[in-house]
Amino acid sequence: MAPIDNQCAICSKPGKLCASCENVHYCDSVCQKTDWKVHKLLCHTFEDSREPPGPNMMRVIVFPFNTTKLEFRWLPIKPGKTQCPDFGSFFGVGSMLGANKPALVDFRSFVQDPKTGVRLHHRITVMFRDGYKNDGSITSIAVHNLTGGPCISKLARPVLAYGNIDSLENEDVKCTNLDTSDLNVIKDWFAQGFYKCKNEQLYADRLNANDNFLDATAMFEMSQDVERELLTRGLTMPTNLQNLGLKERLQAVDAFKKVWDAKIKARASKKQQSFSASMDADELAWRKEMQTSGRITSQSSDYTDHLKRQTRLPEEYRPREK
Ligand SMILES: [Zn+2]
Ligand SMILES: [Zn+2]
Repeated sequence: MAPIDNQCAICSKPGKLCASCENVHYCDSVCQKTDWKVHKLLCHTFEDSREPPGPNMMRVIVFPFNTTKLEFRWLPIKPGKTQCPDFGSFFGVGSMLGANKPALVDFRSFVQDPKTGVRLHHRITVMFRDGYKNDGSITSIAVHNLTGGPCISKLARPVLAYGNIDSLENEDVKCTNLDTSDLNVIKDWFAQGFYKCKNEQLYADRLNANDNFLDATAMFEMSQDVERELLTRGLTMPTNLQNLGLKERLQAVDAFKKVWDAKIKARASKKQQSFSASMDADELAWRKEMQTSGRITSQSSDYTDHLKRQTRLPEEYRPREK
């Protein structure tokens, strides 16, 4: 969201615009310095991403897996009751369905500041490769760098974040363009992990709120998405779910997911082995090195060479020629 007033991003006192991006306010150089560690990741790229390159596009934040540099990107808006970016081949291929199948994508969304619990101006949704827990995906270096340490969620491969404006019931849920001011809450959310800020809980909260609730259709679609995910793994929801009300339905899906997570955990080592067999040797070696040394850097030229061989990645995720 573009700045509505001139509030300092750190302390909320009146402030002046950041001279390079003109997208965020600071009251003084102390607050600016405090925020720079996070703000610098997006400040300079905002300049190129100020205006959409065409109609019907939304600005999202991209967290590449192979570099610490974040970027804004304009993606086409996928029309529908709840607008979202048309991510196309963004997440690449290769998943539990097979090496050449499109990656399954999962998402979590939040409307509250993970630290303070204060409601945000808009909902933020984070999309990521669904199989990150057990498909051997490489940890996202951008996310790791942003949080400054191992991320509880261990998001892997490219990750993207987009925004939606909450609507009254039966209204379409519109998208909104993210900007540099969104990064701090996204960082806090990454650092806390899924299990303290689950979307099921937030949706349930919203369901119970008397005012300002999200479109019920969107929640219903979310529960259907979860069901579809489960189905792709040969797991069928109990048939009586079809007759449940929305709230009970969300609770049932959540409970079923927990059972499923426990099963997956038990089978994880076996699955990892079979997936690893189909991964290319270079990726395996790189991943092993990351795990054993705890060193996460994208600077080594070996790693650049390695990425050039990453034919499974979409073109834009291969390293750029300088
Ligand atoms: Zn300040
Ligand atoms: Zn700036």
